[in-house]
Amino acid sequence: MTKFIFITGGVVSSLGKGISAASIGALLKMHGFHVSLLKIDPYLNVDPGTMSPFQHGEVFVTDDGAETDLDLGHYERFTGETMGRLNNITTGQIYYSVISKERRGDYLGSTVQVIPHITDEIKGSILRLADQDTYDVIICEIGGTVGDIESQPFLEAIRQFPYEVGREHCLFIHLTLIPYLAAAGELKTKPSQHSVRALREIGIQPDILMCRTEHPVSEGNRQKIALFCNVSPNMVFEARDVDDIYKIPLQFSEQGVDRAIIKKLGLDRRAPAVDAWRALVDRITSIHEDLTIGVVGKYIELQDAYKSIYEALRHGAIGNDVHLKIQRIDSETITPETADERLAGLAGILIPGGFGQRGIEGKILAAQFARTRKIPFFGICLGMQVALIEFARNVCGLDGAHSREFNEETPHPVVDLLATQKTITNMGGTMRLGAYTCRLQEGTKAAAAYGAPQVSERHRHRYEVNNKYRPLFEEQGLVLAGTSLDNRLVEMLELPDHPWFIGCQFHPEFKSRPLSPHPLFQGFIGAAKVHARAAQAAAQLGKAEK
Ligand code: GLN
Repeated sequence: MTKFIFITGGVVSSLGKGISAASIGALLKMHGFHVSLLKIDPYLNVDPGTMSPFQHGEVFVTDDGAETDLDLGHYERFTGETMGRLNNITTGQIYYSVISKERRGDYLGSTVQVIPHITDEIKGSILRLADQDTYDVIICEIGGTVGDIESQPFLEAIRQFPYEVGREHCLFIHLTLIPYLAAAGELKTKPSQHSVRALREIGIQPDILMCRTEHPVSEGNRQKIALFCNVSPNMVFEARDVDDIYKIPLQFSEQGVDRAIIKKLGLDRRAPAVDAWRALVDRITSIHEDLTIGVVGKYIELQDAYKSIYEALRHGAIGNDVHLKIQRIDSETITPETADERLAGLAGILIPGGFGQRGIEGKILAAQFARTRKIPFFGICLGMQVALIEFARNVCGLDGAHSREFNEETPHPVVDLLATQKTITNMGGTMRLGAYTCRLQEGTKAAAAYGAPQVSERHRHRYEVNNKYRPLFEEQGLVLAGTSLDNRLVEMLELPDHPWFIGCQFHPEFKSRPLSPHPLFQGFIGAAKVHARAAQAAAQLGKAEK
């Protein structure tokens, strides 16, 4: 029988519910349980695929081609499990389905209402995930904050849920904030009392409280929170701020969060195997060498726009025993005049995926800088396309070469719309999405990094390398290191006379994990480390000579 853990959030948003859910998932996995996670997003979009990064942060792509919430990235990274379409529900999907059923006549004779039709649909979606595999536990994270109008139908659905499966199979965890009032020098429990009261008004009594806090919660405060929130004192845990998200599973485990969940749900006891995770944290703490990577993008001020890129870079850094420093560089500030200064001193340059014309010329200049100065370069999706445009213009002499995405009239459309995209008019969920196999050319850096002749990677794009120019690119020394199985799509490119210059049309960042860094990120950071050390040695030599 699958057990269900529901995680709600109180007081404010951005409490780290996703990472808390992922950390609990990681711990249960370490105890040997088969776990999956589900994110519920209360917005009306069917998926985040059409939203701007300003609205939503990164869109996380799954193997099965779903465009999902970035919390699924945390779920995959922390648990090592693969998520898919069924692991993210939105209000948009729920209403879409209910309205389609209504039009089909499935509810013939009835008035279609939020309760029971919408709530039934929500419960059905949770159960659909449970039916997919023999999971021991499904962790379901409700987006938003208790009290939001948008999340009410979801909270009502999870209130009803225990009647579907039995209360003993359900556990409610409420993540709340215990703010610190500096003027009073005190932690304040009142906001949490109110958010739990709001939950209880709906009919949900949390079993466990996780208290997000900057300072330790005293025993007195724990007792007080327990009393006012109607929770046992030993079910009140601390989620104290940490300097590294990968420390959170151990932080939870040290307090016994995992044991409390296991006991409450009546799961059979299994000895936890936290060794690998502890080794990871020990490794992180023992690192003393810094490495600066420049990420050249448009959304540098946003924490979440390139979430998986930043995480994958960290994984590569941990794998190379360096402490990653990311310099976020706004591509709009890179011009021929500023490039040298903006890009100076970087150990490596990464250009992530993206859409739209803004900042594109700055990215092209960054690719040129990396190519000509022999700085390790990693171009992902748009980043690869940009590197190709630069190569076409400056090495192949194709003046005005561009992608048709940015210039319909370019004389040299070296990047063009995928043939399969030409008849598409709807914007939602219509890109080339999800996992496809890429065949790697023997003897390339890409093949060496992967150590395999074929790999599966996730995609999210409408444009591709224009095949017409492939012979010219190859003549000029570009290696098309990876292609689709039918050889009709270029998936990877690299420069052989460069220490590490690789572009890929897919998004390897989605498959990197802290416990197993992605080979391309591992390779890129490895090359950047070599470059940084050589640059440092050269600088020291220069100083000595003076
Ligand atoms: N805009 C480009 C395309 O659609 C690249 C997409 C991306 O970087 N994810 O092909």
